[in-house]
Amino acid sequence: MRKAGPSEESAVTGPATDPRRRVPRTDVVLAEPRIAEAVERLGRELVKRAVVAAQQRARRGEITPEAVPGAVLDALPATAAGLRPVLNATGVLLHTNLGRAPLSAAAREALSLAAGTCDVELDLTTGGRGRRGHGAIEALLAAVPGAGAAHLANNGAAALALVATALAAGREIVIARGELVEIGDGFRIPDLLTSTGARLREVGTTNRVHPADYADAIGPDTAFILKVHPSNFLVSGFTRAVDIPALTGLGAPVVADIGSGLLAPHPLLPGEPDAASTLAAGATLVTASGDKLLGGPQAGLLLGAPGVGAELVQRIRRHPLARAMRVDKLTLAAFEATLRGPVPPTRTALDADPADLRARARRLAALLAGHGVEAEAVESAATVGGGGAPGVTLPSAAVALPERYAAALRSGDPAVLGRLEHGRCLLDLRALPPEADATLAAAVRAVAPARGNNCQNGVIHS
Ligand SMILES: *Cc1c(COP(=O)(O)O)cnc(C)c1O
Repeated sequence: MRKAGPSEESAVTGPATDPRRRVPRTDVVLAEPRIAEAVERLGRELVKRAVVAAQQRARRGEITPEAVPGAVLDALPATAAGLRPVLNATGVLLHTNLGRAPLSAAAREALSLAAGTCDVELDLTTGGRGRRGHGAIEALLAAVPGAGAAHLANNGAAALALVATALAAGREIVIARGELVEIGDGFRIPDLLTSTGARLREVGTTNRVHPADYADAIGPDTAFILKVHPSNFLVSGFTRAVDIPALTGLGAPVVADIGSGLLAPHPLLPGEPDAASTLAAGATLVTASGDKLLGGPQAGLLLGAPGVGAELVQRIRRHPLARAMRVDKLTLAAFEATLRGPVPPTRTALDADPADLRARARRLAALLAGHGVEAEAVESAATVGGGGAPGVTLPSAAVALPERYAAALRSGDPAVLGRLEHGRCLLDLRALPPEADATLAAAVRAVAPARGNNCQNGVIHS
């Protein structure tokens, strides 16, 4: 319990000349026009906390009382959510820690529209109930004409869990030992599968599996054969996998988890399976992620081949767990716009011409050097990331800065995440659209030491 006595009173407020007595009151600060506007945008509680923090700084003498409103404005976040925008200059196209695929402008617009009330489950012509997600599913089927039916779940793992629950609970999934994959953050496909009540019937060894291994394992308890794309690692040497055509005649449906969400083959990624080819090869069902190479929002795609595959999709769609893994209207809107709208940023980045990237790096480096920044255009190697296309490097270009820039850029506004390489901070341009170059240059200049100011301690003055 706090005891307020006269001595403490004077210690806090001090004599009349003490600047701490001039610290403005909370209601006075909140009434300042720019801060009142922030209250409208961010809510009173959030702004009030910033005011209290700034007042405390003023009382400790860290800032002058007059600086309180400015300190409040500086401390306020851009939105009421804590997330901050980050420019992805890592050269990793799908950076898991940065939220994988950035959405296209069209997808963001659709998402913003869907954020209000919209006809997600209403037929505006009849006034009756409409089929939820109809537009997104139609767009997916239009993008993969070889599919007979499709469904969307929350993410790739959910799509796979749904398939396993609906088709294999209490039964067996036949899977090669070389495809028992850990997908990231300690999550493992085999654990996910068995958590649904399915049993795994492992076949082959870590490096090799033969068609006969699968054939021998199939029996009355088999629910399906599962092929999992080893999307985040490579095995080489004395290896053998069985591809889908060799698995189709064995009397069990073949489910393929292709991971990255490529819908059609991509020339730069010959090792990456795509939905259309996988269905054409004979897979009954295909699962994939929406926020990897597809370039859309987090989602799990489930595609069924015409016939049996399509019937299974309908069965899976009606399973009680499908309701628990249902995508929201925001995802449906962003997903449909990703497929129907202009090429999403991930695909633009993947297809970027290295010559254009080099020209951008040279322009940026020259611009920064003109402002006294120790910047140089260099060749770089980008990767797909997000647990996709392991071993594939994409020729790229970067602006190289002294290493000390990395930390300052990370805490700048907007934050910039580069890549540390050979004692330098590389800002790789492949994952960034050309429109971001001006913002990137401004972010670097904002943390660069003032001209003529040597910075031997590695401290960058803003
Ligand atoms: C990424 C990936 C998953 C998981 O998908 P999420 O959308 O992250 O849930 C599953 N399987 C494979 C092969 C993957 O590459």
